Amino acid sequence: MNLFDLKGKAALVTGGNGGIGLAMAQGLAAAGATVAIAGRDQKKNEAAVKTLGARACALHIDLRNDVACRSMVGEAAAMLGGRLDILVNNAGMNVRKQPQEYSLEEWKEILDTNLTSAFVAAQAAYPHMKKAGGGKIVNIGSMMSIFGASFVAPYGASKGGIVQLTKALACAWAKDNIQVNAVLPGWIDTAMTKKAREVVSGLHERVEARTPAGRWGRPEDLSGIAVFLCSGASDFVTGTAIPVDGGYSSQG
Ligand code: NDP
Repeated sequence: MNLFDLKGKAALVTGGNGGIGLAMAQGLAAAGATVAIAGRDQKKNEAAVKTLGARACALHIDLRNDVACRSMVGEAAAMLGGRLDILVNNAGMNVRKQPQEYSLEEWKEILDTNLTSAFVAAQAAYPHMKKAGGGKIVNIGSMMSIFGASFVAPYGASKGGIVQLTKALACAWAKDNIQVNAVLPGWIDTAMTKKAREVVSGLHERVEARTPAGRWGRPEDLSGIAVFLCSGASDFVTGTAIPVDGGYSSQG
């Protein structure tokens, strides 16, 4: 018995062309899943697919477009042999400024990318998973699902919302054997946080000092939790929000 075996499973990872999404996609592929990734940058999509096995594929999509987001799920299922067992809602973005400085367009763009796309993709995935007799949805939150910061009003709202969306979907779809969980990454070294470190002075050192593990996370630190939450090993785990943060959120 291999609790973590994903052979025969079809997975879609949004934003799977780099950073945390790619590391999660690689974990799923290593456990045997056939993986589709979705992102806007074609070059990153192509490079990522090459690392995900012969049957991997990419969808070129902007998730801010809800119509395209909904059809992405059907297209992924078609490309993956007519099924979808796993959905990882990972794509995300941030704009850092003080609350009074955001335009409504920026607010909407962040909410559409980080929260609405997860809801729409989950809605579209539901019939595929129900038909298959079960499924796994993993939504990516953040330390900003737990904590506040002056420069993340829309991002924090979207990541808090992701946790509550996760709980609602988990309660609704448990009867269909669909488990829905959130992962809350700590500070992980990716393109997103490279930008943050450029604009927030002293951030790199502050994170290192506060994290009990004594280091920034690496994208591959998220591969294992993806495999766990997408495999039979987590069949009685649903509605949770699991920090993967080197102890950051446990530090008083
Ligand atoms: P990256 O910037 O490396 O990855 C973001 C991913 O999202 C890219 O693949 C990007 O693809 C995709 N994406 C963004 N906007 C869109 C869009 N409109 N349509 C389609 N795809 C889109 O950052 P991370 O890997 O760090 O972030 C991944 C997730 O993890 C995000 O949800 C982020 O909020 C979360 N997170 C990250 C943390 C960190 O410390 N790094 C901490 C906590 C949470 P493309 O470039 O092709 O658009």
